[in-house]
Amino acid sequence: MTYNKMTVEDIDVKGKKVLVRCDFNVPLDAEGNITDENRIVGALPTINYLIENGARVILCSHMGKPKGEPKPELSLAPVAKRLSEKLGKEVVFAADDNVVGENAKAAVAAMKDGDVVLLENTRYRKEETKNVDEFSKELASLADVFVNDAFGTAHRAHCSNVGVSALLKPAVAGYLIEKEIKFLGSAVNDPVRPLVAVLGGSKVSSKISVIENLLDKVDKLIIGGGMAYTFFAAQGKTTGTSLLEADFVDYAKKMIEKAGDKLVLPVDTVIAKEFANDAESQVVEGNIPDGWMGLDIGPKSIELFSDVLKSAKTVVWNGPMGVFEMPNFAKGTNKIAQVLADLDATTIIGGGDSVAAVNQAGLGEKMSHVSTGGGASMEFLEGKELPGIAALTDK
Ligand code: AMP
Repeated sequence: MTYNKMTVEDIDVKGKKVLVRCDFNVPLDAEGNITDENRIVGALPTINYLIENGARVILCSHMGKPKGEPKPELSLAPVAKRLSEKLGKEVVFAADDNVVGENAKAAVAAMKDGDVVLLENTRYRKEETKNVDEFSKELASLADVFVNDAFGTAHRAHCSNVGVSALLKPAVAGYLIEKEIKFLGSAVNDPVRPLVAVLGGSKVSSKISVIENLLDKVDKLIIGGGMAYTFFAAQGKTTGTSLLEADFVDYAKKMIEKAGDKLVLPVDTVIAKEFANDAESQVVEGNIPDGWMGLDIGPKSIELFSDVLKSAKTVVWNGPMGVFEMPNFAKGTNKIAQVLADLDATTIIGGGDSVAAVNQAGLGEKMSHVSTGGGASMEFLEGKELPGIAALTDK
């Protein structure tokens, strides 16, 4: 899917009321403290640009799943506070159970150029996730133009992204979405070759659409992690008590045939007696014996994968090479992360657990792009249209 959407820099925002859909869906602890502010930091470039260019910046976002009703523990109030600190200026929080009620309207009416208002959690309204016009109209009534910078929800058609995009024109991309489209889009549609995809994680079944979409596009497809054992079974190897999706062995066989030498599978495995960090373990090549389970790729596989990666000019990685949450089985994932970090190539970490793995290895900064959207980047890699982006105004 290729997108050529207008961005904040294509419009005049001076004196305009700009509604910005951010992804402030940050994790909170039991006391309501923000435990990871990455998403707030990720939204700053667009917000700062709008402030500096004299816009009246009206921010909105969802947080968690309040299921269409006000839930004080899912209020965006803590985000307003943290955002104020980050911006070094007051963010007025429009506490309002209706999101666009009297409080929000009054806060917006009082704005001057460069001011920032944050609305309450959009999912306090039951219409939000059903993209019902009524709430989209209310949101749109607050502003003159719309900026979508919430990549994390781009794969959903909700009022606060798709609904308002139809009502507030132009509807443009913020910097975060622009960057996601640039990296994921060019990797998939117009990569500097060789393009290598590294797929891992637990299940083949959840990655089939990614495999199918990428197989025609990549020069090499490396498969590691728990999903590799279904391919082992397809090669006629025994897999012991490893993760195995018996229903997908035939599918894996067809893939192996279709992919030919594009497909690179592990040649050895770190196996353990049980699913525990301190379990007895050893490395085997080929068959995995009865009573043992594969929990990481072995040293020869690391070498093989590294060799393939060394010639790559673009790499897309989705899914860990082993049970990286357990230090004794994180080596394969960490080594591959290190190889990517050292490459002279465009390296893209596409979502979910591989993002966690790269950050755990402290290598996030070394990658060209670490995607901010788990589900959204996955759907991008599957070749699906992202409604939140498709709804924006074309250049
Ligand atoms: P996914 O969400 O499908 O990308 O899968 C990520 C999860 O796969 C992580 O929690 C890993 O611990 C898990 N995983 C990776 N390799 C294995 C393996 N060999 N056995 C069991 N789980 C694995």
